[in-house]
Amino acid sequence: MLRELKELATTAKQEGQAVAFGEIGLDYDRLGLCPKDIQREYFEKQLEIAVEVDLPLFLHSRAAHADFMGILRRFVDEGCLRRMGVVHSFTGTMQEMEQLVQEGWYVGVNGCSLKTEENLEVVRAIPLDRIMLETDGPWCEMRPSHASAPFVKDWEDTEGKRVKWVKKEKWVEGACVKGRNESVMMGKVAWAVAGIRGVSVREVCEAAWGNTVRVFGVGEV
Ligand SMILES: [Zn+2]
Repeated sequence: MLRELKELATTAKQEGQAVAFGEIGLDYDRLGLCPKDIQREYFEKQLEIAVEVDLPLFLHSRAAHADFMGILRRFVDEGCLRRMGVVHSFTGTMQEMEQLVQEGWYVGVNGCSLKTEENLEVVRAIPLDRIMLETDGPWCEMRPSHASAPFVKDWEDTEGKRVKWVKKEKWVEGACVKGRNESVMMGKVAWAVAGIRGVSVREVCEAAWGNTVRVFGVGEV
């Protein structure tokens, strides 16, 4: 299985289809799916492959910060982790964010990163040269009950009105399914982050774009 994963990553990199290795990491909110010791063991094995294939990392860490940092730090200290990467869908504390940034990692923000007032405080403090934006999966949309809601009201009133929303049974090309987060919501995430930080949408987008290009080697700055 790990051998196949390495082959897949190597081929995808060679053919220009992969710009990162992941997502991999630790999730202690889902121990029912996999216990901690197995997660740690395979996170390390996957990191070994990422190092060999030499791709930047796309990382996931949930309720596992100390173990997550410990494993990454060991790879960095041993000098084998040449590429850095992003810790996506960040929902950790201020201290955890600061530690990631201090140790060279980028922080990915999506709707899940904007649910509580504490989340917003953290997002305000991420250095602009370390922030990335994402939509993530279909269930990571911003909801009216989230702390982000007041910051996307303008978006809902303008951009949101241009989106055609339908129930999934009535989907047609060009429409969005109600309640399902999709890639086209990228602008809404940027809008929310700009409002929360009190800067322009352009400033947030240019920073996130530049960071993404720099880490993954895509597009142009
Ligand atoms: Zn994830």
